[in-house]
Amino acid sequence: MKQSTYLAPTLRDVPSDADVKSHQLMLRAGLIRQSTSGVYSFLPLGLKVLQKVENIIREEMNRAGAQQLLMPAIQPAELWKESGRWEAYGPELMRLHDRHNREFALGPTHEEVITTLVRDDVHSYKKLPMTLYQIQNKFRDERRPRFGVLRSREFLMKDAYSFDTSFEGLDISYDKMYDAYSRIFNRCELDFRAVVADSGAMGGKDTHEFMVLSDIGEDTIAYSDESDYAANIEIAEVNVIYKKADEAIKEIEVVDTPGKKTIEEVSAFLNLPVEKLIKSVLFIVDDKPCLVLVRGDHEVNDVKIKHLLDAQIVEMATEEETKKWMNTVPGYIGPKDVNKDITIIADHAVEAVVNGACGANEEGKHFINVNLGQDFTVETFADLRNIQEGDPSPDGKGTIRFKEGIEVGHVFKLGTRYSEAMGAMFLDENGKNQPMIMGCYGIGVSRTLAAVVEQHHDENGIIWPSAVSPFDIHLIPVNMKQDDQRELAQELYEDLTSSRFEVLMDDRAERPGVKFKDADLFGFPIRITVGKKANEGVVELKVRKTGETLEVKKDELVTTIESLLYK
Ligand code: ATP
Ligand code: MG
Repeated sequence: MKQSTYLAPTLRDVPSDADVKSHQLMLRAGLIRQSTSGVYSFLPLGLKVLQKVENIIREEMNRAGAQQLLMPAIQPAELWKESGRWEAYGPELMRLHDRHNREFALGPTHEEVITTLVRDDVHSYKKLPMTLYQIQNKFRDERRPRFGVLRSREFLMKDAYSFDTSFEGLDISYDKMYDAYSRIFNRCELDFRAVVADSGAMGGKDTHEFMVLSDIGEDTIAYSDESDYAANIEIAEVNVIYKKADEAIKEIEVVDTPGKKTIEEVSAFLNLPVEKLIKSVLFIVDDKPCLVLVRGDHEVNDVKIKHLLDAQIVEMATEEETKKWMNTVPGYIGPKDVNKDITIIADHAVEAVVNGACGANEEGKHFINVNLGQDFTVETFADLRNIQEGDPSPDGKGTIRFKEGIEVGHVFKLGTRYSEAMGAMFLDENGKNQPMIMGCYGIGVSRTLAAVVEQHHDENGIIWPSAVSPFDIHLIPVNMKQDDQRELAQELYEDLTSSRFEVLMDDRAERPGVKFKDADLFGFPIRITVGKKANEGVVELKVRKTGETLEVKKDELVTTIESLLYK
């Protein structure tokens, strides 16, 4: 490909609307352009990477025995009503009408379509198990589209769905996808962890998120520094045995704490360590009030509340709700003498607090020397806090550390959620009708591309892993006006492309400095400069990743590059 007529517009300056490195570099290197908020075009260089990632995914899906198909992006509302998600999915679903005023959605995911497809055409255990996948644009009206294609409103996804006759079968299908995902992200040279995540159901063991470790992720991963334990902090179990302080129980007292609301303010004001404070947070759990207690240095985990109480919706109480139930303002609430209709639950750590402090349910006042049993009671103790750095790893090996993560993939055991709602049944060996057991598996293809850039760059530009680089080689004649340089570059371009390398030749009449800057920004693994030694048939080869340069004779160029690219 000749750069003079190639659509790869580079930008020298960092675009002001791009906050993260991958977004900046993808704009600067001319991979993407925004059409409107959260909607992007992929320019030729960007599309080439997207297709390489797609190919890796396709190879690994096929290797795992999955079959590719293609479903429509336009989905009739009836299907979503059948599954019960037309209402439940909320404003993220892009909805539209046709000319007859029929309702449709632009597919954010395809459980409904695939379930009806399989329901209508697969009827016997003899056809199962079966895993189907597609690579297709998805639409989600994200509340906050941001970071370029990391969170966009139209994006490319690989989605796969497995159908089994038993839960044991589902485990096997799931493990195959899990392994395929590990291979895919390894081939993209991503530093990632498969993380146990919240499945929305008790336990949450049957879902993993594939998280690329990064400083800009929206999720926090708790991982062990000594084992391969990794979990989303939403779900990471806390496994600590708390010891009660060895001190005599004192009499409760009210103290004035005017204007002191936060744990830090109260702790400093009362001169008490934060571990002595009991943090009380009022939640509304499925319309009922629930007071949740954790130790002052801990954070309440609402996913754990949801699981403990088997609830649908857990929300922190508003000021009005706090006023209604506790008769005071947030910052001063506590568990002593509360309204009987309020359920009190507490984290295990609270059980060990002796002579603690908490809000006195009166503005500007706190209690000190508060003790469980004597001053307040708790209905249930459970693990209700977020795990923290320094906690022991729940698997008993090592200590917990935190890292942010970008979710590039998600594997999920659905069970019979859709097959029952939509009647996807099969006849088993005994002629009995049974619901199919399903799993679903997504990869954000465009997000993966951005995650690769996020992990592979330096101050000068992108450093593509060779498996996904748009081109293998950037071939740069320094001065197009010099016949020997131009002719040698043309000769090498032909040799290299016929050796099946993908080559972009910078045949522009630009200054060398401009060409080299663009080369670093594009970040293909190898740069070949045809300069002063062209008349001797010698060129300079530069490895983008290491910065290493070497002079190579033209006859040795192909073998040298082969050894560098394929190691
Ligand atoms: P998130 O928590 O980031 O919103 P999700 O849980 O909604 O993701 P899934 O429904 O599991 O995502 O979708 C499968 C994959 O699609 C995700 O793992 C992610 O890589 C990708 N993805 C989801 N939403 C977006 C988006 N708005 N832009 C780009 N990729 C996305
Ligand atoms: Mg989402």
